[in-house]
Amino acid sequence: MNTVDLIQAKRDGHALSSDQIHELIRNYTHGHVPDYQMAAWLMASFLNGMQHDEMTALTHAMLHSGTVLDLSDVPGTKVDKHSTGGVGDKVSIPLAPIVAACGVPVPMISGRGLGHTGGTLDKLESIPGFRTDLDIASYRRQLADIGLVMIGQTAEIAPADKKLYALRDVTSTVEFIPFIAASILSKKLAEGIDALVLDVKHGSGAFMQKEEDARRLAETLVGISESFGKPTVALLTDMDQPLGRCAGNWPEVAESIELLQGGSPADLQEVTFALAGEMLAAGGVASNPEEGVAMAQEAVANGKAMDRFLMMVEQQGGDTDAVRDPLERSRHAVRHEVYIDGAEQSISRIDARTVGRAMVTLGAGRQTKEDDVDPLAGVELLVRAGESVSPGSPIARIWASTPDRIEAATDVLRSAYEMGSTESPSESRLTDRYTNGAWQG
Ligand code: URA
Repeated sequence: MNTVDLIQAKRDGHALSSDQIHELIRNYTHGHVPDYQMAAWLMASFLNGMQHDEMTALTHAMLHSGTVLDLSDVPGTKVDKHSTGGVGDKVSIPLAPIVAACGVPVPMISGRGLGHTGGTLDKLESIPGFRTDLDIASYRRQLADIGLVMIGQTAEIAPADKKLYALRDVTSTVEFIPFIAASILSKKLAEGIDALVLDVKHGSGAFMQKEEDARRLAETLVGISESFGKPTVALLTDMDQPLGRCAGNWPEVAESIELLQGGSPADLQEVTFALAGEMLAAGGVASNPEEGVAMAQEAVANGKAMDRFLMMVEQQGGDTDAVRDPLERSRHAVRHEVYIDGAEQSISRIDARTVGRAMVTLGAGRQTKEDDVDPLAGVELLVRAGESVSPGSPIARIWASTPDRIEAATDVLRSAYEMGSTESPSESRLTDRYTNGAWQG
């Protein structure tokens, strides 16, 4: 097969066959197609679009570029959740133990934060000693033992995605739904799951800022995932404002523990329990998502979800004392309170993307893949949109290991606050639900 012919076909708006796509991805992964030809193919596809069968073939080729785990020897329907990411989106941390405590095994492979959104791995690693680099044998063993494991991407999982993502990043071909869907699903389907729940976010703090784009991404993800025989449901959720009260690393873990202990802000609880309900229904232990929500709430109320979280922290080498008493660890952080200037004002909106940028400035997130993150860094937003604040009371509290970056982060954080109206944003974060080829409305 001639690579130039494949580039030319996409340049001229034709669809490629599954065999052609498989060979291209195989050759690229093994270094037989150079970056300059792959870059041309990426851009031609980006400009002229891809058909559904091409996207499925691309996902399949990327998935099978590495190991596809078979967890059929672990009893139960294995279900994972994938979120397209957002500011303050710590949902995976309380969600996975809640679902596992209700009897559905959760094998979760997560990523690190890049740009304005945080990553589950960076947050989990803010628990002293917690290891996310388990090998596949340990991953499998822990899932069988306690029904719950949360690790990072291994070199064996979807190596084509790693190479392609780096190339997309430098050729301006990231924001293309077929590539995004193939990239996300090639990694998720390699985990050995039986069913998938997606949290597709829209709004300022999300990857897809426009709701219509998030809808198209959700439809594409569900369509491709189901063509691999995995029942999949997508919730569309609002990420215009940060989710919950905290953003950053340890502050988000502390807020996740608060949820597992029965507290935390209503919006975080709403999204977490809605996703748990979907996962429990997909896992076959609840007859519908509503029943799943009630089961999830019960697992928090009776302490079983927190116990499961502690089991995971212990098995993965984390300090369970720090998790039992998050406030004690928080005392090791430098804290700085942020105030408004001028007279009493109402907050109309807190822009999630700007809060995310403040987190990168602070060192809670990273600008490039090589950056280290500060495990203690983050922010606690002390007032919400729709509330009024006076100059003497703080609007936010910044946490960090050292004071060096606090001043710069404060300046960025202040610019996230839009003042004026006392109108609260919509009470619910749940915008819509997509399953079986239809939106529920
Ligand atoms: N997340 C991914 O894993 N891949 C993309 O292409 C975009 C977001």
